[in-house]
Amino acid sequence: LVSLIKIPVADKDGNIQELSAGQAMNRMYSDSDPAVRKQIFTEWERAWGHYAPLFADTLNHLQGFRLENYKLHGEEDFMVEPLRYNRIQKETLDAMWNAISKNKQPFFKFMERKAALMGKDKLAWYDVDAPVSVGDFKARTFTYDEAVDFINDNFAKFGPKLASFSQDIIEKGWVEAEDRTGKRPGGYCTSLPESKESRIFMTFTGSASDMSTLAHEIGHAFHSYTMWDLPRMNTRYAMNVAETASTFAETLVASATVEAANSNEEKISLLNTKLENATAMFMNIHARFLFEQSFYSERQKGLVTADRLSELMVTAQKEAFNDNLSEYHPHFWASKLHFFIDGISFYNFPYTFGFLFSLSIFAEYKKNPDGFEDKYIALLRDTAVMSTEDLVQKHLGKDITVESFWEQGIAIMAEDANAFLELTEKYV
Ligand SMILES: [Zn+2]
Repeated sequence: LVSLIKIPVADKDGNIQELSAGQAMNRMYSDSDPAVRKQIFTEWERAWGHYAPLFADTLNHLQGFRLENYKLHGEEDFMVEPLRYNRIQKETLDAMWNAISKNKQPFFKFMERKAALMGKDKLAWYDVDAPVSVGDFKARTFTYDEAVDFINDNFAKFGPKLASFSQDIIEKGWVEAEDRTGKRPGGYCTSLPESKESRIFMTFTGSASDMSTLAHEIGHAFHSYTMWDLPRMNTRYAMNVAETASTFAETLVASATVEAANSNEEKISLLNTKLENATAMFMNIHARFLFEQSFYSERQKGLVTADRLSELMVTAQKEAFNDNLSEYHPHFWASKLHFFIDGISFYNFPYTFGFLFSLSIFAEYKKNPDGFEDKYIALLRDTAVMSTEDLVQKHLGKDITVESFWEQGIAIMAEDANAFLELTEKYV
């Protein structure tokens, strides 16, 4: 169905070009011209709306099957399985969302400022991830070797084991990052436990964000590396902790990139990119979670129509963004792949969980940097053998069922939001 989606977009000379869903999405979120983003978004909504009844049918069957399956196993509560799968308690998930809901204000201020820089009162859905460039800003680029050196230098400030591992896998050629046609977008890391090796796939085009992606993937490889001597059964960690090492490595490098910026203009652009992570995790993903909850509740009573799904979606987006957007995305439920993954339900909160979890570890590291690497490695090695509550209690002595644990990570991102506000003051 997705391959049938065609998005007509006019080029500079007015010629209509038909973009695939993937091409259109990239342009819709990253084009620097708000009018182009709006035009693509309008066509985008229309295209998904055209097939909405078929997508609604698909989702109704997926969720219906799950609910029936739970019921046959004597379980009425649809949250039990996703919580079990992620090895967390309900209290922990509630504490995380409560902490986020109470602390969204700095990020709304960031969005408001971003809107003002675009000459708008409020951002529209398609503006949230748009680039910000002020003054005569030119994005800095890095050669692959420069990026590798920058990453290794900053890993070395954290700990010698991560740094030498990173150096080692680059020299061994485990990273395939060549910029050439015919490659799929994004990056990933796969580990080969028999031979105790990993391989990283990505496309390095020289941007600061590609450098973060490389650090992210090396983080994944490092997580596997810390577990290579463990029994295979003890290395299967759940999704909520799967992004711990990667996000942590990415944070080490992304923070250093902001610190090393040559000008305030560059700093603003880099902070914007970092803060897009925060709005994605605290608002976009929150909306997905709220939507999925209300969809399951209604699905328990019967089939849910496409129109109703769009209503539930907009309600969830308004709640998650606290009415701070000028336009919402009603057919987001049809266009977002994650709702259609058949193996796992609630393929959303583990992202936010992993992001904040890793930031909270980062906060602990900042407080007590000496010898933290060994503590960190011990934590990674235990990620697949205990509940997440026990993991954090054992290694950091913290209780993740309380909101204060989650607030530490949110506070780190709020510092970035405040820095963005300060630096952009003179441009509005
Ligand atoms: Zn990852």
